[in-house]
Amino acid sequence: MSRTENYTFVCPECARSTTVDSAMKDALLDHGCAVCGSVVSSDVFTPV
Ligand SMILES: [Zn+2]
Repeated sequence: MSRTENYTFVCPECARSTTVDSAMKDALLDHGCAVCGSVVSSDVFTPV
C-alpha cells in the first residue's frame, strides 16, 4: 500500500475546495483551514 491517498477538501466556512494528500489532510485537521483558519473535521474530506 504505497499509493498516496488524495482527498477533496471543501471548507465549511469559506467553501474553498482543494485537493490534498493525507499529510495535508492531517495538517488541516490540526491547524484548520489555510484560508480562513476555521476548524475542520474529517467529514469534510472526500476520497478522490
Ligand atoms: Zn476556510
